Amino acid sequence: MKTKVALVGIGKIAVDQHVPALAASPDFELAATISRQGSVAVVEAFTDFNAFLATRPDVTVVSLCLPPVPRFDYAAAALLAGRHVMLEKPPGATLAEVHELQARAEAKGLTLYATWHSRMARAVAAAKAWLTAKTVIRAHITWREDVRKWHPGQDWVFEPGGMGVFDPGINALSILTEILPAPVHLTAATLEVPENRQTPIAAKLRFSGNVTADFDWRQEGPQTWDIDIETDHGPMALRMGGNLLELAGKPIAGDADIMGEYPALYARMADLLRMRASDVDLSPMVHVADALSLGRRQTVAAFHF
Ligand code: NAP
Repeated sequence: MKTKVALVGIGKIAVDQHVPALAASPDFELAATISRQGSVAVVEAFTDFNAFLATRPDVTVVSLCLPPVPRFDYAAAALLAGRHVMLEKPPGATLAEVHELQARAEAKGLTLYATWHSRMARAVAAAKAWLTAKTVIRAHITWREDVRKWHPGQDWVFEPGGMGVFDPGINALSILTEILPAPVHLTAATLEVPENRQTPIAAKLRFSGNVTADFDWRQEGPQTWDIDIETDHGPMALRMGGNLLELAGKPIAGDADIMGEYPALYARMADLLRMRASDVDLSPMVHVADALSLGRRQTVAAFHF
């Protein structure tokens, strides 16, 4: 018997990744959707979350694919109704609200999984294993992509809580925090904010331990998702969003099949349910909150989709 899942917020990531991952899952079946406009063929569709909770007690897992700002209310209602919850990244609009969800899940003995899909990229585990017991001399993240391609028309990314370029940048930080053998903390940041928007379109970050990052959402043409690390045992690089591992410039592990990330998230959720455990690591979001707290703001040209 597969565990029944409801998907909330049928938009870009639900359609691109969650629906195919669930269709292929040995553990889960998509049993309902809740979305004001979106739906999935032959799956029962609700527009009202409370109506779903009241009529489908058989659906024990709720996977929230909404943008971060509206997500808390849905997560809190799902936990109150005794459902296990998966959160898209970033897990919320603020750290405090995710801590609150953690406490509520724990009090009710429910699983809360704050997913980080980039941690499931093909070469991240190999990179982490290689870095174990090595000394990082310096590291640099280059995360440059085209916001018009990945977030077409999504004005929420430029609204408060949308996090701007940190929406993709947090993927890089989720990998960094997973693979580094010792933690780092943010020491300085520059945030480039379009004059007509609330969140940065580009950011430069500096961390302790000679770690730096360059996030930019204005890159057209080839996209760059690289992490270059210099260690006491030579250079290591993760390319293509954590999917390829290079040692001393030579490819060692991984491939570019990003469709593997979401099936791996659902497999992890199945493990968490079996173990009656939760997985909520907020370290990537701490770095973003610190950058927004400490960052020097520069106003740049207006941005229009
Ligand atoms: P999206 O398409 O803009 O939003 C998903 C759906 O959420 C919308 O279609 C909408 O469905 C619903 N929604 C939007 N605002 C809402 C609100 N205020 N209240 C209730 N429902 C609302 O966003 P997305 O690109 O799928 O991203 C969603 C999350 O996934 C984000 O946290 C993002 O970081 C993460 N993610 C995105 C990508 C990507 O490539 N875009 C990749 C990985 C992860 P209805 O109008 O039908 O209600």
